Amino acid sequence: MAQINAHYLKLKAGYLFPEIARRVNTHAQAHPQARIIRLGIGDVVRGIPRPIIDAMKDATEELAHDATFRGYPPDQGYDFLRQAIVAGDFAPRGVTIDPDEIFVSDGAKCDSGNIQEIFGSGNVVALTDPVYPVYCDSNVMAGRTGSAGSDGRFDGLVYLPCVADNHFSPPLPQGHVDIIYLCSPNNPTGTVLTRGELSGWIAYAQREHAVILFDAAYEGYITDPEIPHSIYELEGARQVAIEFRSFSKNAGFTGVRCGYTVVPRELVGQTGDGQEVPLHQLWARRHSTKFNGVSYPVQRGAAAAYSPDGAAAIQELIAFYLENARIMRERLIREGMTVYGGVHAPYLWLQMPTGTSSWDFFDHLLQEAHVVGTPGAGFGAAGEGYFRLSAFNQRDMIQEALDRIAAM
Ligand code: PLP
Repeated sequence: MAQINAHYLKLKAGYLFPEIARRVNTHAQAHPQARIIRLGIGDVVRGIPRPIIDAMKDATEELAHDATFRGYPPDQGYDFLRQAIVAGDFAPRGVTIDPDEIFVSDGAKCDSGNIQEIFGSGNVVALTDPVYPVYCDSNVMAGRTGSAGSDGRFDGLVYLPCVADNHFSPPLPQGHVDIIYLCSPNNPTGTVLTRGELSGWIAYAQREHAVILFDAAYEGYITDPEIPHSIYELEGARQVAIEFRSFSKNAGFTGVRCGYTVVPRELVGQTGDGQEVPLHQLWARRHSTKFNGVSYPVQRGAAAAYSPDGAAAIQELIAFYLENARIMRERLIREGMTVYGGVHAPYLWLQMPTGTSSWDFFDHLLQEAHVVGTPGAGFGAAGEGYFRLSAFNQRDMIQEALDRIAAM
C-alpha cells in the first residue's frame, strides 16, 4: 500500500475556517430567520474595476482568433505584465527590480506556501505568532517540524509572539534561525512594520545569513508615506529577502487569481558543503516544473491595474475598505473596546476583556449579534485574547454589524 506523507497528520484536524463554517452553519440552521453578517474570512466583496474587466474581455476575444491566439504563457509571466509591475510597484519608490526577478503566479497563498520547497529540510524556521496559517502548515507538511503541543505550537519552529506589549512587532529571535516569515501590513493583526523595524530584520538576516520571506499582499492599504510598501525600499534587502505580492486585495482578484514573487539575483543559499547557489535559479526551476503560468486574459487584467484608469479605480476600492475599517475602529473604540490595526490594513484586531477566550467571544457574537468574526486563537497561541474583524463588506452591512455589536 502507498505510504502517506505522515507529516500531514500532525496538522490540526479542523483548519480554522472550516471550524468557523461548521459553527456558522449550525447557528444558521437553528436561527433560519437570522441575517448573518460575515466579517470573518478576508474575501473582498466589490466588483473588479471596469478598466481591468475590459482588458480581460479584450484579451479573451484575442484568444478566439488564430492570428492573436496565445497558448502556454511564458514560465515567469508575460513581459508586458512584468514591465508594468516594475514600473508601477517599484520604480516610483526608487527600487530597482529587474523584470526577470519577477515570477507571475496564481497568488501569494501558493507562492508563500510553496517557497519552502527550495530550502533544505534542516533549516530552522521562525514565524510570528499569531500568523497567516499557510507559512506554518506548509513547513509542517514538508517535515520541518515535530508534533504540535497542547498550545498548538509545533516543535522545531521558532515562534515570535506579537502582542499589544510589543506593538505586534515581532521580536528578533534569541538565537540563530535560517528562514523568517514576515507579513506587513499584517494578517491578522492589521498592524505594520516601520522602516526601523524592517531594517532591524535585514541586519539580523545579514548577520545570521538568514532569508526573510516578506509577504506584502496588503501593501496597497498603507496610507502613511513613512511605512515601506516593499522590503526592497530598505538598504541590503536584495541580499536577504524574497517578497510576495497579490492582486487579490487591491484589484479584487481573490477569484480571478494572480500575484507575483520577487527573487533578487543576489540572494543565495548554500549546499551542505558550503557552495553558494542563487535562490532565483531554484525558484525558476521549481516554477517551470510545477507551474504552467497564469492565463493570458488574467495577466492582461493585472497589467491594466497599472493603467491610469485602473490604478485610480483600485485606489477607490482600497479607500472604500479603509473607510469601512475607520468606521469600525472608531465605533468599537466608542463602545469601549480596545482595537488595534485597521489603519493601514483591512483587519481590526480586538483585545478581549480579561478572561474571555476568543472562541467564547466568537460564539457570543454569533449568538447575540449574528455576526461572524475570526477568533485570534485560530492564528496561534499568542492570538488568544484577541479577535479579528475584517472590513471587507458592503457599507450597510458594516453599519448594521456595528449597531448589533453595540446593542449586545
Ligand atoms: N498572504 C496573506 C497574508 C493573506 O492574508 C492572504 C489572503 O488572505 C494571502 C497571502 C493570499 O493571497 P492570494 O489571494 O494572492 O493567494
